[in-house]
Formats: sequence, C-alpha cells, structure tokens
Amino acid sequence: MDQHFDLLLRGGRVIDPASGRDGVFDVAVKGGRIAAVEANLPTEAARETLDVSGKIVTAGMIDTHAHVYQHVTGRFGLAADMVGVGSAVTTVVDQGGPSCMTIPGFRHYVAKPARTRVLCFISAYLVGGLEGHLYPELYGPKQVDVAATIKSARDNADLVRGIKAHAEIGGASRWGLEVIKLGREIARGAGIPLYIHLGQLWPVAESAVVDADEVVRELLPIMQPGDVLAHPFTRHPGGFISGETGEVHPLVWHALDRGVAIDVGHGSHFSFAMARKVLAAGIRPTTLGADMHGYNVRVPDAADGAARASNPFFGVAPFSLTHAMTELLTLGMTLPEIVATVTSNPARMLGLSDEIGALLPGRVADVSVLEMLRGRFQLSDNSGEKVEASELIVPCFALRAGEMCALDSPLVPAPLRVAA
Ligand SMILES: [Zn+2]
Repeated sequence: MDQHFDLLLRGGRVIDPASGRDGVFDVAVKGGRIAAVEANLPTEAARETLDVSGKIVTAGMIDTHAHVYQHVTGRFGLAADMVGVGSAVTTVVDQGGPSCMTIPGFRHYVAKPARTRVLCFISAYLVGGLEGHLYPELYGPKQVDVAATIKSARDNADLVRGIKAHAEIGGASRWGLEVIKLGREIARGAGIPLYIHLGQLWPVAESAVVDADEVVRELLPIMQPGDVLAHPFTRHPGGFISGETGEVHPLVWHALDRGVAIDVGHGSHFSFAMARKVLAAGIRPTTLGADMHGYNVRVPDAADGAARASNPFFGVAPFSLTHAMTELLTLGMTLPEIVATVTSNPARMLGLSDEIGALLPGRVADVSVLEMLRGRFQLSDNSGEKVEASELIVPCFALRAGEMCALDSPLVPAPLRVAA
C-alpha cells in the first residue's frame, strides 16, 4: 500500500475541544501538518507508528505566560525549550520580556534558535520586563513610548501578539493607573490585546497608602473585550477576591460579561484557597499560563540560592504547565475544560486558531501527548496549603510541526506520591 503518512499516533484518547472530539482516535501526520484524525487508520499507511494507547493526545500545548528572554532579563529568563518542547509544550508566549528596543534581540537569540514556537506579549515599558520587582522606577509612565511600541508591535506582528502591563499597588502608589492607560493606547494602536498582571509586584512607595480593591475598581472599566486579566487566584493583594468582602469583586463580572479573558498565570501567585473561591463563584479561566521563571522554579546549576530566597516571588512548590493542569483538575474543572485552556482558547487569544490549538487536518502538527497517573499525590501552593490529588497529569512528549521532541526538561516536577 502507498505509504502516505509520515507518522501515526495510534489509539490515544484524543481530547480536542476545538472540534469537540473526546475519544479514541488515531492522529496521522504528513509534511509537518495533521493529515487525518480518525478511528482505526491503517498502520501500513504510515512510515512510522507510535502506540499511544492509554495516553492523552491533545493539540500542542500553549503556555500563555512564560519568561524566556534568557540572558537579558537577569535571573528571570529560562531557556525557551526547557519551558517549551522539553516539557511537551509546543508554543510559549513570553509575557513582557522584550520591549520595543529589545525585540530584535528576542527574535534573533531566543525565538529563532528555539525548537519551540516562541511568541511574546511585548512590554509596555521601554526597558522590558527585567528583574521586574527590583527597580520600580523603570516602570512608570515616563518610561513608556506609545508610538515606538505600536510601531514595534506592528513591525514584528509575527511575534508580538499582545501588550503586557501591570495593575498593582506598588505602581499605583507612585503613578496611579497611568501606565495601564498608555498600555491600552498601545493595544488599540497595534490592534492586539492588553494583558494585565494583577496582584502586588513592586513595594508600595514610602508613606503611600493604596487600597488594592480600589486599583481593581479603577482598572476594570479600562479593560476591553479580548484583553486579559492575569493572576486571578493570586495570594497577593489585588486579585479577583476583594480584601474588603472576601468575595469576587462585583466589577469582575461586568468585565467578563464584556468579553475580557482570564489567564491563570500560575507562578508563585497560585493559591488553592483563592482559586476555590473564584471557581465556586462560577468563573472559569480562559487560559492557563504557567508563569515559570528563574525565581519560582529550580533551574539546575543556578548558584543564586540566597537571591532566590529573598525574592517575593520565590517558589517552594515545583510546578509546570501540566502540574498546573492537575491543580485545576483537583479543583473540579473537567479534563476537556482544562485542555481548552492550553489549546483552543490560547490559540484564539493569539489570533492563531487557523494554525494551532486544534487537531484538525491541515493544521500544523503540533501535538502534545500526556499521561494520567492514578494514586495519591501531594500538591502544595506557596501559601503553604497542601492538597491531595488522586490523578496527576504528566507530559510524555510533543510533536513540533511533526518532529518528535523528547521530554528532557529538568523543570517538570517528579510525581510526589503520598505514602500509603
Ligand atoms: Zn510572569
């Protein structure tokens, strides 16, 4: 028989929210594209067949919140392929690393050499996202050039899919929400979404008193349909849960009704207690976003333990995108809902639904293969809460444009089993 597929992934559970598929199917790849997704494709039709029965097969996972401007963003930036294909994640979106001045370096030294598809939300600030928490003065409205950033976003439209800025009490204590308004202007000029970090990042200016609830109240009316609120589950003040009432800010509902999206932006922000409250209120994140960086994950050979430990975003609980998926599962979201947060939903946010985020013939053959382990596993967050899980989602490997990418990232945490 004429061998007309390069590769066949045989017998896995295909979960593809974009097409509504959830069942056992074979996925065939040819010339770097998905060629067919059908039950019982003939193995003799493929040059190579991989048995993935018992595994979960999804469109290539998209991490909407990464920090991969390595060597430029101080100790912050991780190697793109460690966060990406080495962790079975085929697309990573750097959140606010490169700026209008430093985007050429990002393209040349990070995006181009990576096997992972690397995109970014460009920083609203001229300096970009350096070691963000250290130098608040670099992040004021005077350090923003609206026209230059619009031009840069337009000139680099293949890489730049949004704008990153911060709404938090440290910045608000100095400049109010002036930077956010400039960020919105850039987003409008460039025709891309604005992505807003919620929760404290910089220390509050001396002698200033800022109400975190007030920052959220002022911010939400600025947000437009398609814009993104990040870190809704933050353990820092200024997330979705009001410090005054302990409930979801009423204005959050209005924003969501208007089509504002939510990115989990896990990082060291993630708190089970906050997540439980937000989910119990009926709110679901649009995208997941792992938000891993040099301070909240353990990178091998990093000789800066003391610097890490003195950082407010220091993390003690290892995590990765799939680990964050497990946490959402434990909190009661369904597996197809969770898969949507790392495939079809982010593809839409990036304006790339025609290329990635779906297992449909003709799309790029970016594919993630995962496994569900069953047993008793220990999860924990950075506020110290421990939660036991009966299922753990772990990555196996990825295809990036049809090419096999082994799982070789040291950032994927080993399963932590609870002793029987
Ligand atoms: Zn981040």
